[in-house]
Amino acid sequence: MPVEVTRDDLNELGLAPEASEYSDKKLAKILQQRKIIKNYRASTGLFLIQERSDGSCYFLVNERCSVYEKRPQVCRKFPTEMGNRLGYCPYTPSNVKRI
Ligand code: SF4
Repeated sequence: MPVEVTRDDLNELGLAPEASEYSDKKLAKILQQRKIIKNYRASTGLFLIQERSDGSCYFLVNERCSVYEKRPQVCRKFPTEMGNRLGYCPYTPSNVKRI
């Protein structure tokens, strides 16, 4: 499941420090070239974070979120304010299967 994030999320993650200089489209192009995002949807203003070959999130490392402290808002709210296991991702394969 691709993780859709906002521009604010990208800034919080430190992935677009020069972001203020660019339009969303220009930023998306740069982040796609760096293989950080997979796609950008102008209609929603959301950026799709790149996935690994198994479909898991780019930031998932050994079943833990490598950016937990700065994780995107969508992750903080999943399913309703995620967080029963500090540092663990809600989008692990077992969770995806349950959805
Ligand atoms: S919580 Fe999961 S989906 Fe969200 S950024 Fe971290 S690894 Fe990715």
